[in-house]
Amino acid sequence: MNIQHHALRPATPGTRQELVSLHYGTPGQGAKAVIQASLHADEAPGMLVAHHLRRRLTELEAAGQIAGEVVLVPAANPLGMHQWLLRGHQGRFDLASGQNFNRCYVDLADTVEQVVRGQLGPDATANVACVRAALRQAVAALPEASALDSLRKSLYALAIDADIVLDLHCDGEALLHFYTTPQCWSQAEPLARCLQAEVALLAECSGGEPFDEACSTVWTRLAERFGPQLPLPHACLAVTVELRGEADVDHARAAVDAEGIVRFLQHRGLVLAADAPPLPPLRCEPTPLAGSIPLIAPRGGVVVFLREPGARVVCGEPLVDLIDPIEGEVLTLTSPVDGLFFARENRRFAMAGMPLGKVAGREPRRSGSLLSA
Ligand SMILES: [Zn+2]
Repeated sequence: MNIQHHALRPATPGTRQELVSLHYGTPGQGAKAVIQASLHADEAPGMLVAHHLRRRLTELEAAGQIAGEVVLVPAANPLGMHQWLLRGHQGRFDLASGQNFNRCYVDLADTVEQVVRGQLGPDATANVACVRAALRQAVAALPEASALDSLRKSLYALAIDADIVLDLHCDGEALLHFYTTPQCWSQAEPLARCLQAEVALLAECSGGEPFDEACSTVWTRLAERFGPQLPLPHACLAVTVELRGEADVDHARAAVDAEGIVRFLQHRGLVLAADAPPLPPLRCEPTPLAGSIPLIAPRGGVVVFLREPGARVVCGEPLVDLIDPIEGEVLTLTSPVDGLFFARENRRFAMAGMPLGKVAGREPRRSGSLLSA
């Protein structure tokens, strides 16, 4: 394993910050996987899984069992890690700009199209290599005016030419779930088995330009533009993996999750295994992200949940009491749809407009920006 340190642009004189990546295996020989933890820096489960995965990858490398390259970014957001305000960790938004750390990854399709047009031919493998080279160039040319730009660019540079990108996050309180695109699903399905995902939410364009989508949808867009005469396979599986809730941080669960990722890397041939067992059964069929309906608090109050994450619910079923302690009124919010109550807020006092939970239904009902802020 070699450790790489990526210096970030200092926000102010006298400060230094860096992103650290751990590199296993041999670059350029076989496939490349990038696994990054806690881009939202206050979501600790990913960092613990990365800690367990680091140990396993070190063992596997010592045993000569890593084929290809595995890059582990054990703490993907050094800027957010130290954003503490009045005892609260603020790891989701960059305090300087207000921007979500997992949004605004620029679409590289136009830039790459201009570079590779005229260079592609009938050989799909050669086309993938050509596009990857152009993607690396496009990321290297991105502007870097702020510390946040510099973080985004460093993460993008590590992942943009990878075959597999796993972005490890978590929700407030939740089942293990995925966000990915319909084009990625056939490759993500074995990962869903390995991690025993209970919900998989698919959207071709969620509207927020999150990291996983930026890495994968560039291939979809380019393939559409070039057409079947210039074959371009979907060369990047990228998934946002939500590792349950913020407080689901324990060694036993993290070790199982890390082993699930290793099992998936075996399945993809990045980790060699003499006699790998069959993949576990799939625990969920994918549903549209546009069918995941948020439960919004119409006013502030004390939040009392009536159902646990994982409950199968029907439209109109009571899910949460919102209590105004001054007036003594109770407003009961009900499920907006038939489906799986898979995620809920971990705070117990709400402001008006706050999302309190999500129910995954089967029918797409929303449009526009599909991700929460
Ligand atoms: Zn997150």
